[in-house]
Amino acid sequence: MGLLISTCLLVILIRVPLSTAQEHKLEAKLAILTASQSHPLPFTLAQWQDPQNSGDYFFEVKMTEVGYLVWSQFPIKVYIQPYNQSDRLWIEPVIRAVQEWNYFLPLQVVDNFQTADIRIVPKVPPLQTTNFLRARSAQTRYQLYVNSSKPAAILSHYCTILLNPRQSSRYIQAAARHELGHALGIWGHSPEATDALYFSQVSDIVPISSRDINTLKRVYQQPTRLGWQVAANSQP
Ligand SMILES: [Zn+2]
Repeated sequence: MGLLISTCLLVILIRVPLSTAQEHKLEAKLAILTASQSHPLPFTLAQWQDPQNSGDYFFEVKMTEVGYLVWSQFPIKVYIQPYNQSDRLWIEPVIRAVQEWNYFLPLQVVDNFQTADIRIVPKVPPLQTTNFLRARSAQTRYQLYVNSSKPAAILSHYCTILLNPRQSSRYIQAAARHELGHALGIWGHSPEATDALYFSQVSDIVPISSRDINTLKRVYQQPTRLGWQVAANSQP
């Protein structure tokens, strides 16, 4: 039973809560940002074709307060935090999941935690009590910030993925695949068990589907405030 619960993937999408002061500061900035615009479609998605017309589940993808969670600087830098015990059993399946998505959006595994866009941490997500107690093996969250290190201040985000490292390689890879889908912009779940972004982990683990990529492509065609310059007079 314990094993069953620990391998049951029930993922929630959370935004890191900001303090009230931070919220106000960010809202003030966002209020004077330029309008939401779409970015050029990344080449990898532009060339994606689905001759089967498998459809998508874009209607399940949620928009955030700054628009869709679209990356506009490539490659997207992914940091995988080491795990002490049997590290190879942790790192290798996560890297395989990164490689799977890399076919559709350019990703790069980096050594620097600080500059990474996506941070994958070997940690069991905290339990939360909702209607009943649920165990989760993975969780993705995003954090907004203004990147002032560039010539122009850019509204940016980074993602943190918490992933239970004490699972079989197969499940680590499946959970990493699913969570990376969220971190890359699919901020919602598929109702179909044949998609990697299905809301619940199933015993029959599936690869990234055409529907996953059709959905991702639609996300990257949407407007967002991420990746665009913050108005000059809104800088601190
Ligand atoms: Zn999920």
